Amino acid sequence: MNKDEISMRQIETDYHELKRTLNSYLEKPDLNSLDKVWEYTKLAHTGQKRFSGLPYVSHSLEVANILAKWKLDLDSIIAGLLHDAIEDGGATREDIVKEFGTNVAVLVDGVTKVASIRLRGSNTEEFVENLRKMFLAMAKDLRVVLIKLADRLHNMRTLQYVPKEKQKRIALETVEVFAPLAERLGMGEIKAELEDLAFPYVYEKEFEILKTESSPHYKEAAQHIKKMTRTLLTKLAQEGIRAKIQARKKHLYSLWKKLNRSEIAGDFSKIHDIVAMRIIVSTIPECYTALGLVHSTYKPVPHIGISDFIAQPKPNGYQSIHTKVFGPGGRIVEVQIRTFEMHKQAEYGVAAHWAYSEAKKKGAEEDMLRIGIKAPNKLSWVKQIAEWQNDIRDSDEFLKAVKFDALSKRIFVFSPKGDVYDLPDGATPIDFACSVHTKMCGYIKQAIVNGHIVPLNYHLKSGDVAEIVKTKNLKIPSKDWMKIVATNTARREINKLLK
Ligand code: MN
Repeated sequence: MNKDEISMRQIETDYHELKRTLNSYLEKPDLNSLDKVWEYTKLAHTGQKRFSGLPYVSHSLEVANILAKWKLDLDSIIAGLLHDAIEDGGATREDIVKEFGTNVAVLVDGVTKVASIRLRGSNTEEFVENLRKMFLAMAKDLRVVLIKLADRLHNMRTLQYVPKEKQKRIALETVEVFAPLAERLGMGEIKAELEDLAFPYVYEKEFEILKTESSPHYKEAAQHIKKMTRTLLTKLAQEGIRAKIQARKKHLYSLWKKLNRSEIAGDFSKIHDIVAMRIIVSTIPECYTALGLVHSTYKPVPHIGISDFIAQPKPNGYQSIHTKVFGPGGRIVEVQIRTFEMHKQAEYGVAAHWAYSEAKKKGAEEDMLRIGIKAPNKLSWVKQIAEWQNDIRDSDEFLKAVKFDALSKRIFVFSPKGDVYDLPDGATPIDFACSVHTKMCGYIKQAIVNGHIVPLNYHLKSGDVAEIVKTKNLKIPSKDWMKIVATNTARREINKLLK
């Protein structure tokens, strides 16, 4: 066998593994269709190679594998295999529609379109922010963005093979566009991995220095946390709380960013979360009980205080309680407390919700049974599903509340200059005016959308270009506006003016 034949053999084994993974979380996936797609993908990329020297399809397959790890549906997996078939392979959109139907074609097409947006040399923060929002506006189907992220993740994992002159540009784009995108989607783990993969290419020297300098700090902090873990696990058990305690190492890139803050100025002793303690429990009340236990065992650091992101989640949905305490020897340690459910959410973000909703369709009961039979070993993804099933039983309401709402109910409206405004579904030109500038609320004469005058109760759509014609003098709004606006900002401003 020559080298290519050996590679291809390994790839076929990996493909087989993908099918096993799909079987583990999808109900009766149509694997015959998948085989057809696989044969087609290989054909479309015949003779093409990655910079690593491997056949091109190794990339297609890895992207599908990442999506399977996130437990996406079969259409996403298929689109993952085909994602480069149009742009880099020999296929056309018509081929994909004919062979695999419009559902898959829409996804593949979306990924291809997103790929054609480039940074165009501009580097200003605003532009990057706009680009990020454009991504979301364009990708009407969230799965397109997830496929794109999986694509980027694998490209970053294999960046060492890419010619040197391209590496830095790709890494920079990853840090500026894709990592923030992952963060916005609540995919904290993915964001951190993307940043750490890009770090050595974007800031080569700084990376080398930090890697050497930080190593003893990581070790010391980890030992510290080990001691605390024993003490706290005992106390939690005495309260009858089943908890998991982890030492969470801060990712190198985010450590570097923190060290660069002016108030830290490179001083490691000011970083209290280089390794943080993470306590994971089953329910929200247990989070607060755990917090009480932590504070009664180790004195909380005064003035820094606790951040309760459970009571007040971050905009991307992140939930946890963060506190800082004096650990053994007076050393300051950050402790993060969350439920298993919040933990999944923090790692996989919207992808986790996708998996939740898919699993829910299948019926949790049946799954518990299957997992019980199928999970005698330590395969972590099986455990993950098992944990998800538990969460689903406990918090139906929670799921209903968070499932995609954050994204599917947002629209993106442009100003004539191209600025993007992120508004809730149902927003009117009045909401738009207030988000451009709160003061503008009192000067609305007319609204123009896509070049036409529209009534003020017009419902804006993603992609609309909106413009407000202003009055010369302050104009008191009509009381009826309260009934048509969709944002709190607008409501507040109207109220102010009515008084
Ligand atoms: Mn690709």
